[in-house]
Amino acid sequence: MSDIADKKDALIAIAKRCFDLRLQTNAGGNLSVRLDSRDAIVIKPSGVGFNECTRDNLQVVHLDGTIEPSEHKPSKDLDFHLDLYRIREDINAIVHCHSPWATGYASAGLEIPCLTVQTIEKIGRMPLIPLSPQGGPQTDAEISPVFEDPKVVAAVLANHGTIGVGATLMKAQYLAEIIEETAQIAYVRDTLMAAHGKSQADLPQYGTAAEARAGG
Ligand SMILES: [Zn+2]
Repeated sequence: MSDIADKKDALIAIAKRCFDLRLQTNAGGNLSVRLDSRDAIVIKPSGVGFNECTRDNLQVVHLDGTIEPSEHKPSKDLDFHLDLYRIREDINAIVHCHSPWATGYASAGLEIPCLTVQTIEKIGRMPLIPLSPQGGPQTDAEISPVFEDPKVVAAVLANHGTIGVGATLMKAQYLAEIIEETAQIAYVRDTLMAAHGKSQADLPQYGTAAEARAGG
């Protein structure tokens, strides 16, 4: 019981941080964390804002899809959360938000480049996941195949939002923040380059610190 209470409190704190940083306003987005028993999660339900999460409205859902009694509707994205926990043992937390800069990039059909030294080290690649072929939002059918690659820790959903996964809620939240920060930096870079007539050829080539050490 105390594990559920602890995980709910941790989720409430991260949801507030995400809201305070304006990464997720209104009642959209969702976040979840795996319980120590490994076979169930705590997740924000549908219709509850990141700033309004409480021990009473958060839901406990088993990985087989069974929802513990709750007055709230499950998140529309519950299926992809459950599936990512099933396919990746290393994932203990997921933060999915509709942060505006990153979602703007994805809605233009552009993959956000990992252009800072931090994104190269921490993320490596942020795949862009298109809308479902049926024309609706992305589901586990589109999202899970991307995360089957164990190196993928962040992805961006076209016309929708971002996903960060991690061993802890804080790690997943940091990724949500880095994705948004990187989208802003990329926008500034590309806007200034266009204004000053620069092209990709003018940009430096660089890799991770480890690669630089190996190469030097
Ligand atoms: Zn969403």
